[in-house]
Amino acid sequence: MDYGTYFFTNIASVTVFTVCIVVLAWYNRRATGTMWFAGAQVVGLIKLVLQGLEGKVPAYIGSMAANELYLISIAMQWMGLYCFVVRKPFPHRRLWIPVGLVLAAYTITFLGKIPYTGNVINLPFVGLCGFSAWTLWKYGKGPFTAVSRVGAVILCGEMGVAAYRAILTNLSYAHPWETVNAHSDPRWIGSLAAAAFLAACMAMCQMWFLVTELQGELARQARTDALTGALNRRSMEEAALRETARSQRYGNALSMIVIDIDNFKYLNDTRGHAAGDCALQALVRRLTCVLRMQDSLARMGGEEFAILLPDTSGSAALNIAERARQAVADLDVPFETGPVKMTVCAGVAELHPALGWEEMMRRADAAMYAAKRRGRNCVSARPESEKTPDKDRAIAELEHFGLVRSA
Ligand code: GH3
Ligand code: MG
Ligand code: MG
Repeated sequence: MDYGTYFFTNIASVTVFTVCIVVLAWYNRRATGTMWFAGAQVVGLIKLVLQGLEGKVPAYIGSMAANELYLISIAMQWMGLYCFVVRKPFPHRRLWIPVGLVLAAYTITFLGKIPYTGNVINLPFVGLCGFSAWTLWKYGKGPFTAVSRVGAVILCGEMGVAAYRAILTNLSYAHPWETVNAHSDPRWIGSLAAAAFLAACMAMCQMWFLVTELQGELARQARTDALTGALNRRSMEEAALRETARSQRYGNALSMIVIDIDNFKYLNDTRGHAAGDCALQALVRRLTCVLRMQDSLARMGGEEFAILLPDTSGSAALNIAERARQAVADLDVPFETGPVKMTVCAGVAELHPALGWEEMMRRADAAMYAAKRRGRNCVSARPESEKTPDKDRAIAELEHFGLVRSA
């Protein structure tokens, strides 16, 4: 294949990738990483067009500007990778000031026709490829592990190819009399093909990053309640099943708190549904602060919530419920028509090892209703006297056969 045909095919495939990633980024604007990838692809495509015009346009466009755009493109790609795997805002100055300095130095040395000027841009490019690979290797965790590992390997390949081309450039500086035609020399054309192949692999990886992100988002939506961000009923059931099995196996205590907002209908009727929604969101935020990492908070429906507390006895759960009740009562939820106040009732129950989590939940629910009857804004644990005779008999039988021990 001659150089012209090769270049045309490369530009065509890069254009397809660029269009795909730009469209994906447009429809997934919340995934900031994809926006950076799209930018990197567009800049990379412009660089390729300029490179294709080399010889037909002045050197400061076909060579200098193309090399500068290549560095900008890899820096933008790094920003995208950082957004996906580190997931924290990045202080942009830290990247763009050094990149700007490199570009300024390269422009000066290129226009000043200073020998070995290619190194001013080639070496930072190699460094940035390596840094991108390191970022992926170090921070690519959880669902991003596989794509990060693959991306890091591709970037190491890109770094190797860029380093090889930097050596070729230096050889041409050192032996200017051995002029080679970069459009036919196998070393130049082979490394260019390798770079194009790796860039295509990296573009696929960029799409893979977005797919992984969207999969995570879908899984999160399926697990949580859209209004408050708390877990939904199904997730709570899964967590309760898991923790019950763990508690039964290792003998750890497990407790549950059921919380219901007092007179919520009245709040909705007097302050409006939006104020009610706002109160629900504030309640979840506040409860999350009161709880530990291992506790699960779920919205079971309407204004009723459940909290699952692993490794927690009933008496400890009662303290936590009281802390939660107090925290909610102290809350002034900011709302456009003035602060919203609310109180809650909480019911607490501890798992009996012989009976499932449904029974624990039923008792916590009953305790919550007992608290309502006591006049609201209070906490209750299901009193012993309210245990059903049937259940007591069932437990006594299990104890008799040595299948369970009383808590
Ligand atoms: P109690 O103290 O006995 O619990 O009384 P309550 O008014 O809190 O309980 P009730 O079951 O009578 O009313 C619950 C209200 O919660 C009725 C319903 O409109 C409201 N509600 C349920 N889901 C939502 C929601 O997502 N947003 C808002 N704003 N209100 C909701
Ligand atoms: Mg209520
Ligand atoms: Mg209710």
